Amino acid sequence: MKIIEGKDIKKFSVIKEMVEKAWSVRASSNGKTRVGAACAYVDEGIVVEGCNIEHRFRSHDIHAEVNAISTLVATGYESFNSILIVADREQFTPCGSCMDWIMEIGGENADVMFQSSMTGDIKVYKAKELMPHYPF
Ligand SMILES: [Zn+2]
Repeated sequence: MKIIEGKDIKKFSVIKEMVEKAWSVRASSNGKTRVGAACAYVDEGIVVEGCNIEHRFRSHDIHAEVNAISTLVATGYESFNSILIVADREQFTPCGSCMDWIMEIGGENADVMFQSSMTGDIKVYKAKELMPHYPF
């Protein structure tokens, strides 16, 4: 795990865009816990975002990570190498289902990043750090 300090975010144009888009789309969530995500194909500067959408039948909930990944694929990209998840919580990680999608589309070397406030530090993990025994 590494940390990108909040004060340094502006040095990384793609990450800065991911922060802006993830927090912006989070406002569209209808959930009690609002979550935003932005995934990027960093080499091409592509950033797409998604928020969580809650359904009264909770098993139908769409998680922000899946929403962002779905939009990325719908936009015409087959993979991403970085995903940022934002929520007003100190500790969180993607759920197992979202990690399956991150591993499938982003791969084990994708950066999985978390931020709990718009100007806060970003924790950066490799997907394989979060799923060390993932069966490939
Ligand atoms: Zn999830």
